[in-house]
Amino acid sequence: MEVDCPYCEKELDIDSSESSVYDEGVKHQHECPHCEKSFVFETYVSFHFEPAKADCLNDGKHDYQMTATTPIEYSEMECKMCGSSRELSDDERTKFNIGTKESYFEKMYQFYEKNDHGLNGKVAQTYLQRQNICYTK
Ligand SMILES: [Zn+2]
Ligand SMILES: [Zn+2]
Repeated sequence: MEVDCPYCEKELDIDSSESSVYDEGVKHQHECPHCEKSFVFETYVSFHFEPAKADCLNDGKHDYQMTATTPIEYSEMECKMCGSSRELSDDERTKFNIGTKESYFEKMYQFYEKNDHGLNGKVAQTYLQRQNICYTK
């Protein structure tokens, strides 16, 4: 960050990789490398708002794209224009070959039951019971 020294008015660089220089409401002490006088500076963080058209909010169609989520069963469709998101429809789950959240837990439960009957298996089982999904061995 370039600033002008308040004494000699020469330009000097303040190391902006130091996170402490972003502290607001405090006086940061600095020594000018040119005239070797000490001065203080305060930091003001400013926000910039960037407007963009969102036709989908004005009778247009949302431009949905699938989010990259792990596990993939938790993927959502997010509109590129307005940022709103929704669950995948059944058709989309079939099209992209993505199971439901429940199927993820079912898969996990079966996996852990096969490999060890540890905590994750119990977590999955509890989740399935809460969702009233019948899981029979
Ligand atoms: Zn100076
Ligand atoms: Zn939209």
